[in-house]
This record gives sequence, structure tokens and C-alpha cells, in this order.
Amino acid sequence: MDSEACQRGFYRHSLETKHCLKCPPNSLSNESGATSCSCNAGFYRAPSEGQNIACTRPPSAPRNVSFSLIGTQLSLWWQPPSDHGGRKDVTYTVFCHRCHFLSCEPCEAGVVFSPSASGLTKPAVDVDGLEAYTNYTFAVEAHNGVSGMGPAPQRTAPAVWVAVGHAAPVTVSQFILTQRDDSSLSVSWLAPRQRSRTSVEYEVMFFEKGEEARYTVKHLLEPNVTLTDLQPDTAYLLRVRSITPLGPGPYSPDQEFRTLPPDTGALSGGVIVSIIFGVLLFIGLLMGLLIFRRKQARRRQARPDYNTSGFDREKVWLKPYVDLQPYDDPSRGVLEFTKELDVSCVTMENVIGEGEFGEVYRGSLRLPGKERIVVAIKTLKSTYSDSQWWNFLREATIMGQFNHPNIVRLEGVVTKRRPMMIITEYMENGALDTFLRENEEKFSPVQLVSMLQGIASGMTYLSEHNYVHRDLAARNILVTRSLQCKVSDFGLSRILENDAEGTYETKGGKIPIRWTAPEAIAHRIFTSASDVWSFGIVMWEVLSFGDKPYGGMTNQE
Ligand code: AMP
Repeated sequence: MDSEACQRGFYRHSLETKHCLKCPPNSLSNESGATSCSCNAGFYRAPSEGQNIACTRPPSAPRNVSFSLIGTQLSLWWQPPSDHGGRKDVTYTVFCHRCHFLSCEPCEAGVVFSPSASGLTKPAVDVDGLEAYTNYTFAVEAHNGVSGMGPAPQRTAPAVWVAVGHAAPVTVSQFILTQRDDSSLSVSWLAPRQRSRTSVEYEVMFFEKGEEARYTVKHLLEPNVTLTDLQPDTAYLLRVRSITPLGPGPYSPDQEFRTLPPDTGALSGGVIVSIIFGVLLFIGLLMGLLIFRRKQARRRQARPDYNTSGFDREKVWLKPYVDLQPYDDPSRGVLEFTKELDVSCVTMENVIGEGEFGEVYRGSLRLPGKERIVVAIKTLKSTYSDSQWWNFLREATIMGQFNHPNIVRLEGVVTKRRPMMIITEYMENGALDTFLRENEEKFSPVQLVSMLQGIASGMTYLSEHNYVHRDLAARNILVTRSLQCKVSDFGLSRILENDAEGTYETKGGKIPIRWTAPEAIAHRIFTSASDVWSFGIVMWEVLSFGDKPYGGMTNQE
């Protein structure tokens, strides 16, 4: 066959080639005398590949894409395609979309893939920078050297749907003293592990060295703080932790900073003149000032900031909340723990609910020198009874003593005008029970569990302050736009001593017996342990998207 034309299925590249060669796999020469074999339908040669190379095809889709999610850190992995297309150069590309309900758009640059999003040779990738409480889809596509050379078989695996829940707590470190004088310290810090744009707050606990029991807590939105009204030439210890929708992270190690001695720091021209022209007068003034500051500090120590909160039972002194009972005049009690607001700063917009005491409005609050904020306004109806009035004031008094990301924050009260008002932060998604019923099956188990973690965190704080809620239920939890859950409804004594059944009925016909611990029903023993029972019922409510507990049973049963 040497000098003859090659038969079908064979080819001779040029006349100099001695023998006819068999067409490489997946190629064919249809006519005799062929100088090349063309690829079968669906098979290709890469541009760099010669006639002696087998024709190959794009790979099939990767299989079984799986993921694990810890906080906002995602790992994706998958099985290689069942058909590599006859090649060994398969690589993968991962496509990320961020979705809101059914509308998805490509992920932003903040989402980082390690080692990269495309050209992956191994079937796995880590994804960082995802946002908390956000849904994403990830699709994985397989390629090889002949991908894109013709209509390809399905090479993208079905997209996986990832619902990111809470952000893992951020560890706070790298403290820098940015400024100090004899009565203040300014400190900033870094939160380097925080990559997503989830809302983070910081909690700063500080105290004079050796005086740990008398600490003060501040909550901040930025990673820096200025501590004022400090003693001169005194060492202060400061510890900081982050608070994400999940709750607080770990405290940083204690950081020690010292204020300057009283006469250090910038002396004003006026003081220099005083020194020159009246040394004695100046010393007198300085001493007077010091005595005044000490007195102020002593007063502060005697009655610590009611923002004070402790999370480490062993180390910190926890201040029990103060009830309204000891006050002969409840209006005075309220003023101790709340801020009386000028009614001209409050604008009521629309009714958003009906509470125990009257209508609840959405509105706004504009305090002098501050930005307008959206608030919820609880009003006390004009036909209030004495007990309603007392409970209304009690709710404000108790709420005013709490300061925690999972407790609804009190902005202030109006008690000197009618209608009386309790003004709190506005919770966009309203009560948790209704919210879950309206959004059935829209949240992943991770999201539901992080809602419960938030509630647990708020309830832990309450129990640390000796407060027993008695009416923990999804209807008494409010939800923010970012799905953060906050405990509300304080000071209610709806489970009344004279209510033999231990039950009450609200407008919605909800019977708390379904939420109440057996010992509380039988013996009226309400403790943090009975709140824990109610929390168990709330867990059930949340995971069932707001179903009624023991739905198939009557109260008697
Ligand atoms: P309550 O008197 O606390 O039971 O409130 C009655 C209803 O008003 C609740 O079920 C909510 O729908 C609504 N509501 C109360 N407080 C707020 C708030 N801070 N933000 C948004 N809605 C609220």
C-alpha cells in the first residue's frame, strides 16, 4: 500500500510519508487518499494539536457539588466529571451569584476565592467575604483544551444554594493609644478577621486598675473609643469584644493605659498667665477641681452606670435590675432609669400594632443636635386603668436599665404629656411569630438557629440581671431588617397572682399556658429556669415557622 492512496479510515500526511496511518481515535477519513482525518461530530482538536493526535471533546458537568459553611466562610467541593472528554487538562470555574428572593446578580469584588475562581485544577475552592444573612448560588463549570470549540454537552453542575446566616464573632486586637491627657484616653483597635460587611458593634469594658468590680461598659459602632472623666495619673484596664447579630465574641486581653499627671498636657496661654500672676490662686483652683472630680468619680463608683453588664459570671459584679415596686411614686422611678423626651421631638406616623396598653405607632425622633431616627412609639390609651398605667411605667423602667444587642432599646419616654409614650428603636420586621408565618420556608435552618442564638443571648443577659421575663414567646420577640431578634415586652404582670388558671388570653387568643413551665403553672414558681422552658417552646415555634405549640390540643389537654 506504500505508494497507493490511503483507504478510508487511514491518512498519509504527505507523499513523503512512507505508510498510511490509521486515523487517530474519534476521527475519520471518508475518502481514500486522505491527507488528514477530520474529527467525528462533537469531537475537536485544539489549535495546537497535530493530525496525529486523537480528537477529544469538552468534559461533562462536575458532579455532586457540596459545601460547608462556618459563619461566613464557605468551602465548596465537587466530584470530577464522569466524562473528561478523553483529555487530562480539565479545569474548573466557579460562578457566584447573590440572590434576593428570586432575583440574582453576580457577586461583588469583596467575595474572594482561594486559590481562585477560574482555572482550578483541583475540585475544591474556599470562598471568603460573604455577607451574613444573604443568599448565594454557586455553579461549577468544567473545561478542557477543546471547550468552546463547538456546541458543548452540559458542563455546568446544578447550582448550589447557600444561605449565609450569622457572621462569626470578630476577634478584636492591635490596640493603639491615639491620644491622652489627664482625664481622657482615646484608644482604637483593629478587627482584622472581619471580611464581610455585616454590622458589627463593639463593647468596651473599662475600669481603674485593681477596681474591676466597678466597671463601665460602652457600646460603639466604630473601632475606637474615648474614655472621659478619668482620674489623672491613673492606670485603666480596657477590654473589647465585638458584637455581631449572633451575639458577643470573646473579650480581648486586658489593655493597660495610663492618664497623664494633672499638670502635664497643653497649658493654655490663660493658665500660663495665671501661673505668672497668681500662683496661689491657680493652685487653689486646681485643687478645687481635683476634689470636685474625685467626688464625681466616687459618686459614679457608688452607683455604677446602669449600662454595666457582665458576661463573665466569675469575674464581674452583676447589677440586678431595679423594679418599680419600691417606689411610692412610680413616675419618679421611671425618671431614674429613662429619659423624658420633649414631645416636640417625636413625630407619630402610622399605627403598626395594638399593644396591651394602646396603639403602637411607627414614627421618628429628632433630638437636638442629632439625626432623625425611626422609632416605634407605644402609647397609653386615654382610658387607662391604674394597673395599666403602672405596668406601662414599669415596662419603660425595666427596659431603660438594659443595654444589649438582643434586647429592644429604649430611646426615652413621654410621661408629662398625654398620651404617655414609650419610645423604642424601630424593628422593621415586627413580631417574630407573624414574621415567620408570613415567610414560611424562606429561611434556612442556619438562619433560624442564629435567630434563636440571638434570643438566647438576650435572655442570658436578662437572667444575669436577675430579670425573669415570664412571657417569653415568639410574639414577644421583635425582628430587625437584618433578622436580628430582640426580646421585648417587659414589666407585664399579665400572669397575675389572682389568675387561678395561670393563663391569660390576649387579643390573638394566645394562651401562655403553652409556653409556661409546669412548676410555674402549678406553684407559680417563675425563675430563669422557667424562662428556659419557654425558650424551648420558642425554639419549636421558630423551627416550625410560627406554628402554634401543641396545635392539635386544647388548653385543658
Ligand atoms: P406590644 O405592645 O409590645 O405587644 O406591641 C404590639 C405590636 O406592635 C407588636 O406585636 C409589633 O407588631 C408592634 N411593635 C411593638 N414594638 C415595636 C417595635 N419596636 N418595632 C416595630 N414594631 C413594634
